[in-house]
This record gives sequence, C-alpha cells and structure tokens, in this order.
Amino acid sequence: MTDMVVARKEGLYCVPGDFYIDPWQPVERAVITHAHADHARIGHGHYLASAEGEGVLRSRLGEIHLETLPYGQTVVRNGVTVSLHPAGHVLGSAQVRMEYRGEVWVASGDYKVEADATCAAFEPVRCDTFITESTFGLPIYRWQPQQNIFDDINDWWRANAQEGRASVLFCYAFGKAQRILSGIDAGIGPIICHGAVEPLNRAYRASGVHLPDTRMVTDVADKAELRRALVIAPPSAGNSPWMKRFGEYSDAFASGWMLLRGARRRRAVDRGFILSDHADWPGLMQAIAATGAQRVIVTHGQVPVMVRWLRQNGLDAGAFATEYGDEEDKGSAAEEPDGERLANA
Ligand SMILES: [Zn+2]
Ligand SMILES: [Zn+2]
Repeated sequence: MTDMVVARKEGLYCVPGDFYIDPWQPVERAVITHAHADHARIGHGHYLASAEGEGVLRSRLGEIHLETLPYGQTVVRNGVTVSLHPAGHVLGSAQVRMEYRGEVWVASGDYKVEADATCAAFEPVRCDTFITESTFGLPIYRWQPQQNIFDDINDWWRANAQEGRASVLFCYAFGKAQRILSGIDAGIGPIICHGAVEPLNRAYRASGVHLPDTRMVTDVADKAELRRALVIAPPSAGNSPWMKRFGEYSDAFASGWMLLRGARRRRAVDRGFILSDHADWPGLMQAIAATGAQRVIVTHGQVPVMVRWLRQNGLDAGAFATEYGDEEDKGSAAEEPDGERLANA
C-alpha cells in the first residue's frame, strides 16, 4: 500500500484525497493548519481550514475561496475522511486527521501541549502515522510553566514604569503577541501595540478571545503615558524610526530561542523571555506517544536528532523535507511580512 501522504515539490500531498496540506507553491486544493505565513500562503484555488481560525486567516490572506470546518467535524474528500483537531499553537491552529480504508494519518502542523487562554488546547489524536514538527526537538529545550514567564514580564514592566521608562517587548505579531497580552497584568500601565500587531488583536477579539485594551501609538495623546507603557512590536520594528517616539526605553525579546546562550546578546536587547508557541522536547515526546502511532514522519526543525531518537525508541521514523520556516526567529522564511511593510505605521 502506498503512503497516504507524500512530499511533493508543491507541498505535503494527500494522495487519495487529492489535496495538499500547507503547500508552499500554489495548488488547486489546500488544507491549512494555521495562519502563520509559512503554512498559509496566498494563491491556492480552494482552502479548507478550521472555523475557529477563519478570522485570523482572512485577516492575513484577504480574499480567498475558503471553506471552514469546526474542530472535530468531518468532511469527505475523494473517499478520505478529513477532520481538524486543536493543535494548541495559535488561534485556529489544527492538526489534520485523514482516514482512508481504515488507516489514519495525522499531520500536526505546528503545536504546543501547554494550554493557553488564546486558543483551544492541543488534542491528542490516535493515528497510525503522525507527521510532527520538530522546531524545538532537542532535549535541551524545556519550557517553564508560562505563568513564570508572565510574572517575569510583569516584574520587568513594573520596574520600568516606576522609573519612567517604556517597556518594548518584541515578539511575533500573530499568536505570541496575543498570548502575552492575555497573560500579563494589564493593571500595570497602558498597552501599546504596533500596527502589525493590532489587526491580529482585533481578529482575536472578534473570535471571542479576551484581550486587555490596547492602543496604537498614534492614539496616545498624553506622551507621558508612553513612559509607563508596555509596547508590543514585531522584531522588524526594532531598528525603525517607529521606535524613536519612546525616548529612553528598555527592550526585550520573547521567543523559545531565548533559551540559547547568546541569543539575547545577538539581538542586543536588555531582556530575553523564554516563551514559545511550539512544544518543547518533553512536549513533543508526550504528543507523539499520545498518538499511539507506530510510524512518525518529522518535518521542519531538528529533523535528524528527532528521527534518530524515535528510531532508538522502536518507532518507524522518517522525514519530509518542507519549506516551513520558524516564525519565532527573525530572518527566517516565516518572518512576519506585514512587520516590514508596517514598520513605520
Ligand atoms: Zn506556526
Ligand atoms: Zn511551522
């Protein structure tokens, strides 16, 4: 029996279903796991995505031919039963479950296992073959509970506000920014969001996610407020004129990569907060085990290490080469496109 999903030059292809999963080249039929730029691209004929992610997907891709599917509901494509299940990564993120003639494959997209308030929690889905990401697939990657990180951010912001200094926190505009907004203590001071972040905030609120009040810098009349503010901006805003209005400020970067020695210095920021929307090593292992899959195919990230580890643990493991990037790291294929364009907005 041939594999249900194969890697083609356009993207991961479900052979019997005749559709692609997060294709990187234009195709007729695409199933999209989530709206990050490297997974959700323009130019496909027909899109299928989670109903929960419709708002953010449309806000990023504009006019597309989109069919949505609520989590857990099924649709049949050429005899393949397709359903979408929460991946816990960002609002609307989904794992794609495909069942054909009694065999089940699941493509994870990006995922994390720690639940957060801005999206549905990761759901383990039983399958025969699991296609997993591996962004942080090394044993050194172990996250602290997110509340510890939010507490650290609050302490940093509070101390800066007391000294009359803005706190500029760089992070990815979609997902990470909203997770931080939902986790921090909004009582400390005003919250200002960059023009690349605010449209996503609106899409999250419209989808029913509670976020504290945020403003654009142009909406702040009393400039003294800026000195108590938390400012959320994409990394691309860092060296732009947009920063000048904040005067003296402290800056920080929030990403899983901040765990690495030198990552904070490389970015030349005062603080690094280790917060990722991807599973850490124990999370990847937990998620893979929970699928019960005997075969695991590893995509973007630490592919050779994960494949070797999984084989040592008795699984049939392999890899797919993909063109997915890493939205947590500036300069990757997934770099926030709007961030550059809106850097001076
Ligand atoms: Zn992603
Ligand atoms: Zn990804």
